[in-house]
Amino acid sequence: MRTIDDLDVGGQRVLVRSDLNVPMEDGRITDDGRVHASAPTIAALAERGARVVVCAHLGRPKGTAVPELSLQPVAERLGEVLGRGVRFARDVAGDDARAAVDQLRDGEVAMLENLRFEPGEESKDEAEREQLADRLAALGDRYVGDGFGAVHRKHASVYDLPRRLPHAAGKVVLDEVRVLRELTGDPKRPYAVVLGGAKVSDKIAVITNLLGTVDRLIIGGGMAYTFLAARGHDVGNSMLEGEQIDQVRGLMEDAERRGVELVLPVDVVATTELDTKAPHEPVPVEAIPADREGADIGPRTSRLFADKLSDTRTVFWNGPMGVFELDAFADGTRAVAEALTRLDEALTVVGGGDSAAAVRKLGLPEDAFSHISTGGGASLEYLEGKTLPGLTVLEEGGAA
Ligand code: ADP
Ligand code: MG
Repeated sequence: MRTIDDLDVGGQRVLVRSDLNVPMEDGRITDDGRVHASAPTIAALAERGARVVVCAHLGRPKGTAVPELSLQPVAERLGEVLGRGVRFARDVAGDDARAAVDQLRDGEVAMLENLRFEPGEESKDEAEREQLADRLAALGDRYVGDGFGAVHRKHASVYDLPRRLPHAAGKVVLDEVRVLRELTGDPKRPYAVVLGGAKVSDKIAVITNLLGTVDRLIIGGGMAYTFLAARGHDVGNSMLEGEQIDQVRGLMEDAERRGVELVLPVDVVATTELDTKAPHEPVPVEAIPADREGADIGPRTSRLFADKLSDTRTVFWNGPMGVFELDAFADGTRAVAEALTRLDEALTVVGGGDSAAAVRKLGLPEDAFSHISTGGGASLEYLEGKTLPGLTVLEEGGAA
């Protein structure tokens, strides 16, 4: 993939597709990690005299202008982070966008309104997407793809737009791809993958593909209960996807055939309700009471998982070990996160929106991990072995 250094940008209008999909509450940004991650590419282009036009999406407005999902507060935050003004356009590719871009001088930055206000952005109808891509392409001379969190989407700004302009990959995308290539190429061993989170059905495909590369597969979180049920345990009221049990059993047999060590919880924190004040206690997986649900891995499991990670040289972790949003059920997630931070020599990669949020909520230093991915869905699809439309187009075609 070409980098922005391969692109001649001085005096050119450069459209940068960033991932600025930040969590918001009452119009305030609650976590600006993605703004900080996106800033270096934008700053580097501006410093080289580009007229930078940032485009991005926020939330799911589904093709209409939803005022609460305006990118304006994000443009303001980006301006603060960059230490330079960001001119904000009140539409995506209309009169205001054109005016904002026309007024840009070399080294200045503008941001377009939320791409998903336009029905063409996410449309399945190619013609509709291409029409928006044409309007966007009229606003720029070059394209830089840096929105890693969206590269698995065949959206106008991600897939159709770069095909119309000389293009290159930004720093966020290059960093992510470098790490994912390490994981899928020739990882240092032992290589362990820790999976948690809510739904096993979301992760069957990635597990299937990972069984070909990993040495150890460690499973916690809500998805562990379907594995425990497949082993014949009664899981009480725990999260269970009954219709996935057969497939999970198949995965377990496959793991055994391939010599992949599958590590499951031996105890869980069983609670009457998902509430910190509800009665809860650790119980062995053989004895989960019928009227309780497992909301976290138990302390014996935390020690087991930490031990299974202690000699690894490559770790990919996706999905919290419990309902970490509630303090009473955050210990397992903390134990796994801390086990990763103790691995000084290993490549430790955290992927997934909630997993990254958990690292920040637990107050662990982000630089204690080799890499925290900004795009959960995109990383998982890469590890599933899928081709990602937004990466494929960046690999094709020429840079000017
Ligand atoms: P990521 O965003 O990192 O990919 P997921 O979206 O797959 O992670 O899963 C995150 C969610 O899983 C969290 O909201 C967490 O509360 C939930 N979760 C984890 N363990 C359990 C459990 N035992 N029961 C119910 N929900 C769980
Ligand atoms: Mg999630």
